[in-house]
Amino acid sequence: MSAAEAVTDALRDLHRRFVDVREGERADYIPELTRSDTRDFGLALVSMDGHRYSAGAARTPFTLQSVSKPFVYALALSSLGLDEVDRWVGAEPSGEAYNAISLERRTGRPANAMVNAGAIVATALVPDTPEVPAFTRILTTLSRFAGRGLDVDEDVYASEAATGDRNRALAYLIRSTGVLPADPVAAVDTYFRQCAVRVTAVDLAVMAATLAHGGVNPVSGETVVTADVAAQVLAVMATCGMYNASGEWLLRVGLPAKSGVSGGLIAAGPARFGLATYSPLLDATGTSVRGRDAISALSERLGLHLMRNPALPGSTVTLATTADVLPSAPADREARALRERVGVVAAQGALDFTAVERVLFALDEAGPERAGPVVLDLREVTGADGVALALLHAGLARLAREGRRAAVVDPAGRLGPPALVRGRTGQDLPRYGSREEAVEHCARDLAGPA
Ligand code: GLN
Repeated sequence: MSAAEAVTDALRDLHRRFVDVREGERADYIPELTRSDTRDFGLALVSMDGHRYSAGAARTPFTLQSVSKPFVYALALSSLGLDEVDRWVGAEPSGEAYNAISLERRTGRPANAMVNAGAIVATALVPDTPEVPAFTRILTTLSRFAGRGLDVDEDVYASEAATGDRNRALAYLIRSTGVLPADPVAAVDTYFRQCAVRVTAVDLAVMAATLAHGGVNPVSGETVVTADVAAQVLAVMATCGMYNASGEWLLRVGLPAKSGVSGGLIAAGPARFGLATYSPLLDATGTSVRGRDAISALSERLGLHLMRNPALPGSTVTLATTADVLPSAPADREARALRERVGVVAAQGALDFTAVERVLFALDEAGPERAGPVVLDLREVTGADGVALALLHAGLARLAREGRRAAVVDPAGRLGPPALVRGRTGQDLPRYGSREEAVEHCARDLAGPA
């Protein structure tokens, strides 16, 4: 494991760069949190293949606090669906501090599930039955996100329970307007417990990576939530996860993120990685200073901003030409002349909407005068999602309607079984194991009956 150490080195580098920052204060309104060591600074990154990298105090335990909120919101969404959850808690950035009274004017509905008011409602939405109490469901879900059994730091829980009047007041206020779906005392108690669940930076990076990976934990392989729920949670993290710093964060760092007052911070690069830091010194918005600075620096250095297009144009279509220039073309003049009229397009990688659009465009352009048969070589295609497949079939059907025969090189059957292809494209799309066979077939077609 020495080549991949280069990734660890990048984290070590960030550690070195920011470990001496002394700015910020520990949260002290939960007295137990002041027992943390202000020198602690840990970073962890988890890839979509479940590879784990870390530096500094990445195995030091601390409590989740508000980093629990997106995951409990995910549980509420999984249990009730977006429309029902949305009736109780909104998805608008509040522009206010995490503990503000961010309630909608007339309805009293909390602004979003990342601020305390909305998080308490999300917790209250988690089904609570005698057989499976709400907190059991929450702890199980958090553990599945982390890929290991988590537990509660009872001291931190007791400390917040003893001093958490502001959250209780919030819960009663919400209750008074009629939009708290459970008993305020019980809801806040469960909320305090979820905030006191113990994790490490490595755990948090796995949890963030699970959201980035469409709800599937990339380390354990377990499906924790659906891809839809994961996307919904990331969307709310992107707009609301950093409270009154959310807009500036999305502008400068460009990653869905969530901070907590014990010093944890997560950021997710959708389909790319999960990232987490731990450092207890907080800025005025309740965000870890070193974590904030390290993640900003990493995003800038590695070009991780969500609004930057990560897809390289031209990386899908690897060949767009005519069959006469292929190395396999025969020397014979007549055979070559036929092959000049056969277009050839080869594609590679995973096909999604963006990639398939490139393939379809290349098919149109292929061949002389954009006419004649065309060979589509899919041997280097590693997969295609449902949208890509439907679009590819529709494109091939259009091509057929214009009288252009397509011959597909598809030994792995990426296009689906022949009957399905016939149903979708309205033609018996000939499929071949090799490019040469497909070209030969098209050339013979052009030559007509001998
Ligand atoms: N338990 C904390 C609270 O409710 C969580 C706040 C936070 O981490 N921002 O005050």
